[in-house]
Amino acid sequence: MNLFNVYSLFDITPVKAKGSYLWDDKGDQYLDLYGGHAVISIGHTHPHYVKAITEQLQKIGFYSNSVKNPLQEKLAEKLGKLSSYEDYELFLCNSGAEANENALKLASFVTGRKKVVAFHQSFHGRTSGAVAATDNPKIVSPFNAAHDVQFIPLNDEDALKKAVDDKTAAVIIEGIQGVGGINLVDDLFFQLLREVCDKNKALLILDEVQSGYGRSGRFFAHQYASIKPDLITIAKGMGNGFPIGGVLINHEIKPWVGELGTTFGGNYLACAAALAVLEVIEKENLSDNALKIGNYLLENVAKFTRLQKVRGKGLMIGFDVPEELKDLRQKLLFDHKIFTGASGSYTIRLLPSLTLTKRQADEFLEALEEEVGR
Ligand code: PMP
Repeated sequence: MNLFNVYSLFDITPVKAKGSYLWDDKGDQYLDLYGGHAVISIGHTHPHYVKAITEQLQKIGFYSNSVKNPLQEKLAEKLGKLSSYEDYELFLCNSGAEANENALKLASFVTGRKKVVAFHQSFHGRTSGAVAATDNPKIVSPFNAAHDVQFIPLNDEDALKKAVDDKTAAVIIEGIQGVGGINLVDDLFFQLLREVCDKNKALLILDEVQSGYGRSGRFFAHQYASIKPDLITIAKGMGNGFPIGGVLINHEIKPWVGELGTTFGGNYLACAAALAVLEVIEKENLSDNALKIGNYLLENVAKFTRLQKVRGKGLMIGFDVPEELKDLRQKLLFDHKIFTGASGSYTIRLLPSLTLTKRQADEFLEALEEEVGR
């Protein structure tokens, strides 16, 4: 049986990983500044994480949510504490798309409405509602398009005031747009968003799937703007590669039995992985490291005058390359053995592990120096 060929792959086969490095089947070492779509938060194969999952697997790996699983409560408690959302409640699922799908569904249940406002260049996942709120017509099927979604430009206050009305169930926005090219949301826009949602009794959904978990230098990127959304979605860095996602829900939203459900969401192994991730983030002060190394990278990448619009927060960084440098990402990968991400044809994204060191950042800057000069 062949694999269904729906995404392009580099001809590289990683067989081993540690920290910010990967090794392929030919023995070549790579610096990983991409973390497989921003997933590697605490570094590959972190010993505390490997131990926690291994020990859990020897006890019990999975049982459905028909009986109590104390690890879910432990995870909720730790997550509440580290994120400063102790008074929110947690629903666990398996991926970012699923988290957004459940958040959209909750907003619709709570308000009795179905209209959603989303943003140009947004990405929220591939399930029906999440993809309908994603601004990429190529991946939205006629089935998904049946959802009632209005797209407006990011940071456009007038468009926001016009779009959100008494038919709006939710506005969904990323903490920092990731797939769309590392686009920052203005603090004032976040604050207006909170006001406009309150005024219209619409819910605010903050998709922190890519920008959350310490990546921006704060636990959640929206915390720079000092607002509190009604629903926050998480995944990616949450499990450091183990599939897990979740929705943080304002306690004023009351659940009813049967409202949401899942077979695999919040299973023992996933919870053990997610707990270990939070323990490492706390013990190693990884948000602080993300901010420190992120600022170092932002400052130094900006010195390369041929690179444009260097932007980001913490270790969520993007910059544009001019047409004549459009092979830069390939060169970084094949000549310098450095993984980076892309957005469109000309934006390079850096989404490394939050454990990235200055020395490793310098490895990347030295490679840039060779390719781009000053
Ligand atoms: N939201 C955002 C902001 C994302 O970047 C992604 C994945 N790129 C998703 C949701 C979907 O997550 P998943 O692939 O885990 O479904």
